[in-house]
Amino acid sequence: MKSVSILGATGSIGTSTLDLVERDREAFRVVALTAQRDVAGLADAARRTGAELAVIGDPALYGALKDALSGSATEVAAGEDAVVEAASRGADWTMAAIVGTAGLLSTMAALRGGRTVALANKESLVSAGALMTDAAKRHGATLLPVDSEHNAVFQCFDHGAPGSIRKVTLTASGGPFRDWTLDAMRSVTPAQAVKHPNWSMGAKISVDSATLMNKGLELIEAFHLFPLEADQFDAIVHPQSVIHALVDYVDGSVLAHLGSPDMRTPIAHCLAWPHRMATPCQRLDLAAVGRLDFRAPDLERFPAFALAKDILAEGAGRAVILNAANEVAVGAFLDGRIGFLDIALIVRKALDRYDPGSPSCLEEVFAIDVEARAVARDAMETIGA
Ligand code: NDP
Ligand code: MG
Repeated sequence: MKSVSILGATGSIGTSTLDLVERDREAFRVVALTAQRDVAGLADAARRTGAELAVIGDPALYGALKDALSGSATEVAAGEDAVVEAASRGADWTMAAIVGTAGLLSTMAALRGGRTVALANKESLVSAGALMTDAAKRHGATLLPVDSEHNAVFQCFDHGAPGSIRKVTLTASGGPFRDWTLDAMRSVTPAQAVKHPNWSMGAKISVDSATLMNKGLELIEAFHLFPLEADQFDAIVHPQSVIHALVDYVDGSVLAHLGSPDMRTPIAHCLAWPHRMATPCQRLDLAAVGRLDFRAPDLERFPAFALAKDILAEGAGRAVILNAANEVAVGAFLDGRIGFLDIALIVRKALDRYDPGSPSCLEEVFAIDVEARAVARDAMETIGA
């Protein structure tokens, strides 16, 4: 029996993970589940799975969670430190699925436990890439990529002979505004932006997919996960989301990973790794799909992707700024305070402001993150938000 913890258990990735875990009660035992504000969702999941520990990030909600779990055997805790403690509880397998750099400390805590960490929380890897992969190595932890493209690369990558690989290509659906003009994108609403054509996801990553920042973050994520040079990673728009990534070898062979767009497939790959487990995901029916299309990303209409692509060669501190400014801008867009095209504008303004150099420890990552958020808020004022 494998013991599992899920950080961000009430989110899109968290509930997909729970769905798989709950299908096989003999195979998995739940140690810890965490959420930020969704007391009802967390308590319900804890009762269903008989979790040992349930943690709510917002300390003001401790009483509500305690009430919701009264009479159950689940231990209850609250606050940021308690989320990190939950990650340190020593589960065999931890899903890191908190959104944003808010998940950085808990993901690091799970890695320091030296077990298996399934990583969905890409913002942490973008901000603290080398520190995170170093921690995994030092503590003997296994870091498995949940992000569908990276999970696809992981499955096609010859880990014993990276020198035989010429290039890795991530695919992008292109998001809901793939064919929109820049002018039309000016008046995009949050409701339109979170409606992804192929994938069902949380609000933040859905907006990132719409700006193509998600693909930019994913290039940086891939750079930290696979031992290739920055210029060996690229992305291509593939509207059907059937191929998730391609690995191009020196002999001309190209290995691709295909599957229906359902995150339970990559999550199951990580959950069962190094074995396989069955999932209820819809089977890929290529005859029904009919055709697969590809095109290069349009850097003019999707400047966020270009910004992130440039960062790959620019150093780790720049990636912290990119990510932090984007988190602030996406939050402001979702709150209706700025327009859709302002997101990339604010990120660019924050990047133009300074170069902090490469952070050498987590404290430096957080210092750059905090400063970049302030710069982004300041940039928002200059555009009248
Ligand atoms: P959601 O917004 O659906 O869920 C986020 C989870 O994190 C929730 O459980 C939420 O709790 C919790 N959370 C939010 N803020 C905090 C905080 N400050 N501290 C602690 N916990 C917090 O996001 P997704 O599931 O879509 O995405 C999670 C991560 O996975 C992201 O990094 C995303 O980029 C990545 N990812 C997601 C994919 C997808 O298909 N959804 C695909 C690939 C990667 P509460 O519910 O209480 O707010
Ligand atoms: Mg992805």
